[in-house]
Amino acid sequence: MKALVTGGAGFLGSHLCDLLLSKECEVICVDNLITGSARNIEHINNDRFSYIKHDVTKPLYVEEKIDFLFHLASPASPIDYLELPIQTLKVGALGTHNMLGLAKEKKARFLLASTSEVYGDPLVNPQTEEYWGNVNPIGPRGVYDEAKRYAEAITMAYHRYHGIDTRIVRIFNTYGPRMRLNDGRVVPNFIGQALSGEDLTVYGDGSQTRSFCYVSDEIEGIYRLMMSDYALPVNIGNPEEHTILEFAKIILRITGSSSKISFKDLPVDDPKQRRPDITKARKLLHWEPKVSLERGLKETIKYFKSILES
Ligand code: NAD
Ligand code: UDP
Repeated sequence: MKALVTGGAGFLGSHLCDLLLSKECEVICVDNLITGSARNIEHINNDRFSYIKHDVTKPLYVEEKIDFLFHLASPASPIDYLELPIQTLKVGALGTHNMLGLAKEKKARFLLASTSEVYGDPLVNPQTEEYWGNVNPIGPRGVYDEAKRYAEAITMAYHRYHGIDTRIVRIFNTYGPRMRLNDGRVVPNFIGQALSGEDLTVYGDGSQTRSFCYVSDEIEGIYRLMMSDYALPVNIGNPEEHTILEFAKIILRITGSSSKISFKDLPVDDPKQRRPDITKARKLLHWEPKVSLERGLKETIKYFKSILES
């Protein structure tokens, strides 16, 4: 089996490449390194692995057959997509269009990495796949949310109109080794701050909630969805919900840091609550997260310590 992974040199993409290689797949990783890094794939020493440096907003021609196309390319952290608004919109729109075209040409099964951000600042909690969301299209986060909503729409259009075999995963906050220390997301920020004795920067009063999924659980869910026969969106995330203030205290406890907590302005349109309803994933994929927050954070802290010491 041959798989192509866009965004394969990113945080999630590189772990997906590892999993696919462990399942004896041949893997083509496509990435332009705009937010990813060659370091994430440099450990891979395998004849079944190849890398193409390419911006998927431009058409991609591949000689080989492709059975599975995982489309993960997109800036993903709020500071990345706020710095790269046009690239974010283009990769969600043109990039997804191009990759669907490639899947059609190769008769490959296509999986879109969508996001809990399609629910915006949700008015229902937990979020089920049936919820249509509450998104501000013209706010600063709109570039990401609307790009992903468009990407879902064009994926369903290719499915319905061209009969392409498609999957849509709505990924909820995922963390683990290979996140960038400076990507601005809460997990690397808090761990980096705790390890270097700086204040943990809680935005707003910290009452907003998130639910954190460890990377190995997320990747297993994505793989199972690709192998399933279900074309509608499926949430993959961990339903254990914490306020951000609670989360800061958990990081302080696990790192044993004597850092303090300081409060900063809440970013515009920052969702107040986020927690996946994973009934569908449980039923259809027999999937649920296995790694506790404590264990996942310990692994992640170990990784960031090694980065800070190198
Ligand atoms: P990441 O930034 O580490 O990875 C994204 C990768 O895509 C990077 O390697 C980047 O260089 C590449 N890329 C971006 N634009 C490209 C382009 N035009 N052409 C080729 N490559 C391009 O982020 P991540 O956390 O690994 O996210 C991967 C995917 O999962 C994204 O689509 C993201 O929206 C989605 N997602 C992630 C999370 C999460 O918590 N990590 C949550 C929801 C959705
Ligand atoms: N956050 C925070 N301090 C930080 C970084 C983030 O309080 O240093 C908050 C942010 O406002 C949001 C939550 O943590 O409410 C998760 O932010 P992240 O950027 O990780 O992802 P999001 O879920 O917002 O896409």
